[in-house]
Amino acid sequence: MIRPVRLITNSLMTSVGPFTVAQSLPVPALHNADPFLLLHHAGPQKFEVGTPAHRIEPHPHRGFEPVTFVYRGSVLHRDSLGNEGQIGAGEVQWITSGSGIVHSEGPTPEVQESGGEIELIQLWINLPAAKKMTTPSYQELHKADIPRITKLDGALTLELIAGSYSNETGPASTHSPLMAAMGHFTEGAIGSIESPAHEQVLMYVLNGSIRVNGENVVEGHRLVVFESEGDTINIETLTSGSLLLLAGEPLREPIAMHGPFVMNTDDELRVAFRDYAGGKMGTLAE
Ligand code: MN
Repeated sequence: MIRPVRLITNSLMTSVGPFTVAQSLPVPALHNADPFLLLHHAGPQKFEVGTPAHRIEPHPHRGFEPVTFVYRGSVLHRDSLGNEGQIGAGEVQWITSGSGIVHSEGPTPEVQESGGEIELIQLWINLPAAKKMTTPSYQELHKADIPRITKLDGALTLELIAGSYSNETGPASTHSPLMAAMGHFTEGAIGSIESPAHEQVLMYVLNGSIRVNGENVVEGHRLVVFESEGDTINIETLTSGSLLLLAGEPLREPIAMHGPFVMNTDDELRVAFRDYAGGKMGTLAE
């Protein structure tokens, strides 16, 4: 059975630190896609040689997982746990902020010194209430550990970051049932892929154009939200391009989201701001 399209959202353009980003979640038509809270697509953005060292300065997070999928260029993460990690295209930084972490993020020194182009997605995934105050952690997922799955006679490649799909399992460890895959497609293919086996299924198109289920033309900066049932998705690739396929199980818990924190109640948000101000989430000198 085909999994029908429920909604296709347009992105709002905004900026975060040195990046211009397309925000497809939240938007007025879709406040969240439980357990997914926010989807920012940055770039492709050119950093010229000699551009001042623009990074996103140290800031805290609590109660959710900020995950960065790099499509072009390279980025550097530093955090209050002492992690410092650099990843390139096709790689992922998966932060479990839990009870609190302070980090900085942005272009690598190489990009800052020699110039270059960066394109990435940052996705905020909610943590279940019982895991919001878990010990913070950081996972770096490298190419060698990421299974590649080909579909549509080789016209679609999916790099499986988390969860199970098509008899493969991604390397990320998660706190709720999730699936995430970075995809690249070439023009002129038509066929079907199996839907991820979760209630919430999303497909974000970064660039290029595809037709979904024979009727919906989806272009860059659009997020496709599928209905909760169905095991097959039909895809026709109208150009080459790239996408992010996401799936998960809704947590169905209250969401209190403000600035860099995502809790279940306003009282918990107040505690988060107080704990950060009191240094309880650690510190990081940039
Ligand atoms: Mn951050």
